[in-house]
Amino acid sequence: MSRTIYLSSPDVGPLEESYLIAALRSGWVAPVGPDLDAFEHEVAARVGTRGAVAVSSGTAALHLALLGVGVGPGDVVIVPTLTFVATANAVRYTGARPVFVDCDPHTGNVDVALVADLIHRLTARGERVGAVVPVDLFGSCADYTALAPVCAAAGVPVVEDAAEALGATHHGRPAGSFGQAGVLSFNGNKIMTTSGGGMLVSDDTALLARARHLSTQAREPTPHYEHRETGYNYRLSNLLAALGRAQLVRLDGMIARRRQLRDRYAKLFAPIPGVRLLGLEDIDSNCWLTSIAVDPERSGWRAADLAAHLARQDIETRPVWKPMHRQPAYADAERLVTGVAERLFADGLTLPSGSALNERQIALVLSAVDEFLTVRAGASTA
Ligand SMILES: *Cc1c(COP(=O)(O)O)cnc(C)c1O
Repeated sequence: MSRTIYLSSPDVGPLEESYLIAALRSGWVAPVGPDLDAFEHEVAARVGTRGAVAVSSGTAALHLALLGVGVGPGDVVIVPTLTFVATANAVRYTGARPVFVDCDPHTGNVDVALVADLIHRLTARGERVGAVVPVDLFGSCADYTALAPVCAAAGVPVVEDAAEALGATHHGRPAGSFGQAGVLSFNGNKIMTTSGGGMLVSDDTALLARARHLSTQAREPTPHYEHRETGYNYRLSNLLAALGRAQLVRLDGMIARRRQLRDRYAKLFAPIPGVRLLGLEDIDSNCWLTSIAVDPERSGWRAADLAAHLARQDIETRPVWKPMHRQPAYADAERLVTGVAERLFADGLTLPSGSALNERQIALVLSAVDEFLTVRAGASTA
């Protein structure tokens, strides 16, 4: 075993092992089976949607969700610039173009006033806005109270990228349930994992049926192989669904552990000038990743200095997402940006946040941070 302390490792144990072995022994070693059906029902119940389609990744779920709300070639789709690249890539898979929009400095989530402005500008120019894809960044829901009426008034569907936010809520309503379709990820580093997987959730049964059809190579219900359109091989395997069911049983416990860790970081950084935790005010976050934003003028040090200090002790950190409009792959994409995401990229740092961290590892991380802060405090008063 490496000594490295990672950002967000899979948290699996005896329960996952027993579910996985039971599924293997059941003989359902296929992208079909009772665990797959049950996993879909259980996740839909958790998110509060009428149904769900389990697929091989969150990215696949995003692709199917965009197709499901009718996004296609010639459309533009509004995407937050501060996100993981999958959100933008899925738009391109459909033949549409992403247009990037900046975020709110406190939460890092999409700036709703900018979205309203952008919808107006794009439609005035004769573009068809196929969808808005808000991202629930690091496990905090976007401001749907403000966003939903803006999109509804413009007649633009919402596809909620809740890949990072399973278990979070916004005014009591679960992440994933805010758009015409919602997307979850069960990648290895997410709040819960199937080692790789995702799910599309929705109240729209026609959209779900179409996504299910497309996810299985658009095979028609005939004895021979009949296909009327181009489908995809996106279905999740029954074995991985069994792993997901075990993780879902433990989800609330895993969220509680991440929240406890966030609270300890919050206490540590509270007296430090110029340092804030992103989205700390959101008590309904699932606390997937805890990130700080550092104002070097006030703190006397940069986020990268802390990252280097922790790296010397084999503790992994990461900058927050590099904005999409700064990615070479999207250099030519249109954007409406204010500089907020770029500042968060320059001054932000994501800290080890996983629920699998044991008390010894947590103590190591906290003391390494504390040591850095103590030395820096001494340096600035000297
Ligand atoms: C992880 C993630 C995805 C993609 O999920 P995969 O399962 O890795 O394909 C999409 N959007 C966001 C915001 C993510 O963090």
